[in-house]
Amino acid sequence: MSANDSPISNDLFERALKLIPGGVNSPVRAFRAVGGTPFFTESAMGPRLVTADGREYIDYVCTWGPAIHGHNHPAIREAIAEALEKGTSFGTPNPYEVEMAELIVDMVPSIEKVRMTNSGTEATMSAIRLARGATGRDKIVKFAGCYHGHVDSLLVKAGSGALTLGNPDSAGVPAAFAGETIVLPYNDLGALQLAFSENPDQIAGVIVEPYPANCGLILPQTGYLEGLRDLCTRHGAVLIFDEVMTGFRIAAGGVQEKTGVMPDLTCLGKIIGGGLPVGAFGGRADLMDHLAPLGPVYQAGTLSGNPLAMAAGIASLKLLRENPPYKMLEAAGKQLAIALKFAAANLGVPLQVPQAGSMFSIYFSDKPVTNFEQVMETKAELFKPLFQTALEYGIYLPPSPYETCFISTTHSKNDIARTAEILATAIKEIGQTGA
Ligand SMILES: *Cc1c(COP(=O)(O)O)cnc(C)c1O
Repeated sequence: MSANDSPISNDLFERALKLIPGGVNSPVRAFRAVGGTPFFTESAMGPRLVTADGREYIDYVCTWGPAIHGHNHPAIREAIAEALEKGTSFGTPNPYEVEMAELIVDMVPSIEKVRMTNSGTEATMSAIRLARGATGRDKIVKFAGCYHGHVDSLLVKAGSGALTLGNPDSAGVPAAFAGETIVLPYNDLGALQLAFSENPDQIAGVIVEPYPANCGLILPQTGYLEGLRDLCTRHGAVLIFDEVMTGFRIAAGGVQEKTGVMPDLTCLGKIIGGGLPVGAFGGRADLMDHLAPLGPVYQAGTLSGNPLAMAAGIASLKLLRENPPYKMLEAAGKQLAIALKFAAANLGVPLQVPQAGSMFSIYFSDKPVTNFEQVMETKAELFKPLFQTALEYGIYLPPSPYETCFISTTHSKNDIARTAEILATAIKEIGQTGA
């Protein structure tokens, strides 16, 4: 996108740059990894974003995951409108919170009790505090490349924007905090086994994105998640699945439903808010009962369980429960992945397209990517021309080689076919300029 064809977005960005650090309220939005300046979205409907300059894009960011029903779904909009009539916040319990808890416990297999938060970050922050409070231990294990929001002790070898902008270990996190975090490679049970034996009775919990989706998309090797479960049980550590991204997306009950591996605690966010700011964490009742006011682990939120946010989330979850879209989303994901791999193979471009349901990512690499170290060996610089060509033809991919693409239920067969064609063309151009 050149400055000339988006005068309104460019003017907004110039004004934003003076007042908001980097012009954005979340770093990856700034387009640093792909060049150019971000467009400003004026409205969004179904699979499409409409920019302030009136351009339309088929959107594969889906507001970074939440928009599984596409943008501005009528059922969600109506649920918010109905709730709005009654008031925006009460500061007392409200009926929506109970309905939301019932839906979550019903849909997510391992959750017996749940607490709502306002973001995924709050959910992971609270879950690790709970793991520490319940076990009386301090250390937490995380895996390189996994992103769990911007929690101090989890911003160590983190994915998402931290990785995109080259600071996976954030400044401002005291070494003493980071020192309580043990970072291990994903897909390596031996490393976890070793960590447990080197830190006996010190590891409170193991937090993992069961399908890491914030450094591209990495899938677990056969038996890996089962092995995590087994090691945590043997060593008395709390297994925390961060399903902020995968919850309600891979299946109604997330990766745990798909694989049958049950964590002790689960973090949720994104889809659960239907586009409003919501997170949640839940799990075994005996663990959750360590939370205040029942137990000594403090956790709170002025706007937690907010009625508008709950109404949006309830509508979003009900759509998924009443009419599960997962087969259709899997077919769309597979179609795109196959089309890209086919185009690349024909042209000798080294490409991997890991895909699970409506999530996929694009790695320029000649071998499968199974951990963070291998992500770092991919030719990330080739993503930039892919992104720019796609954008030119009306396809909006995440503006970073380390983010996952999402498909919504509103992406039509035509949208998918057109996207496959455009991305294949972009790959061809990359092939011709010599990958
Ligand atoms: C997005 C994300 C978070 C953080 O959620 P926010 O709502 O952005 O705070 C945490 N964990 C995972 C796996 C995520 O994808």
